[in-house]
Amino acid sequence: MSRFFSHKFDSLTPYTPGEQPRDQKYIKLNTNESPFPPSPKAQERAREEAGKLELYSDPCCTALTAKAAQVFGVAEDEIIFSNGSDEVLNFAFMAFCDEAHPAIFPDITYGFYKVFAALNGIPYTEVPLKEDFTIDVGDYVNQRKTIFIANPNAPTGLYLSLAQIEQIVASNRENIVVIDEAYIDFGGETAIPLTKKYDNLLVVGTFSKSRSMAGARLGYAVGCKALIQDLNTIKYSVNPYNVNRMTMAAGLGALEDGDYFRTNCEKIMATRQRTTEALESMGFTVLPSLTNFVFAKRDGIPGKALYTKLREKGILVRHFDTPRLTDYLRITIGSDSQMDTFIATIKTILEEIL
Ligand code: PMP
Repeated sequence: MSRFFSHKFDSLTPYTPGEQPRDQKYIKLNTNESPFPPSPKAQERAREEAGKLELYSDPCCTALTAKAAQVFGVAEDEIIFSNGSDEVLNFAFMAFCDEAHPAIFPDITYGFYKVFAALNGIPYTEVPLKEDFTIDVGDYVNQRKTIFIANPNAPTGLYLSLAQIEQIVASNRENIVVIDEAYIDFGGETAIPLTKKYDNLLVVGTFSKSRSMAGARLGYAVGCKALIQDLNTIKYSVNPYNVNRMTMAAGLGALEDGDYFRTNCEKIMATRQRTTEALESMGFTVLPSLTNFVFAKRDGIPGKALYTKLREKGILVRHFDTPRLTDYLRITIGSDSQMDTFIATIKTILEEIL
């Protein structure tokens, strides 16, 4: 730290992204990326746009927003796009949290919520998940706080039903509820339609997972017009050109190719089922996941040891070194052949260890 760094960040611990190693070629099952390339339409539109990079991008994301409005079934002024969903999540912390509206979220969830709260000097409460890693809906009913819930949750993969989400939103009409749906396309039901009924609901989504565009950085939020205006006030105070031309074009192409998106989501869900069964047959406990990853443990083998063995054999998964999570590994669902290699490697490791 330099002697110039502002003291307001004294207690800030930045987010630790998953490893992106360059030392050798790994099977990467550690950052919940898609194993499939972006839609050919997305690639083609991005290529066309490359020749126009001398011009600023459209701050209103006009064409992308029009298409998204149609796909999501909302009005154009009920959507905002961002540089990854991380950015619009940060905008939500900036716009809807302060001393009078502290943040509240589960103790085990997406690690960035805590960072955004700290970055913006916002007080926050972490509510412990239940013993079985589920969210107790009762903990979020009638709160006078800004609520952040990842649904499905990460890294557990567990899902709250739309009825449970509505219960939380309906009981908090005087404060904002942000539902982060990064993984909703792998079997969950989106809360976007509820934004018509509740002006205190903001739904956040991303093109990083189900639409294979993690490297393009494209996220969005959907909510009533007034909430989107608030987020735009923040956006136009931070970075009006937050979505670059190639990403905006790729996003449009991705939305135009609904078949490709649905086929890939179905493939991931089928491979998730197969992977879950294979792990269970080898003695693993696997939480029921509605995401593109599984959260699993094998009694008698510490998560860290398994992570290290897998890494030595060229497979990267995610291990969280915190007391409640330390037994577990979060394993991204890759392609069928990647998961075949993963399962065979786990078999070998179990034979070596046991
Ligand atoms: N929310 C959750 C729950 C996530 O796991 C992630 C991915 N790390 C994000 C949001 C952010 O995704 P992105 O910024 O790539 O849209």
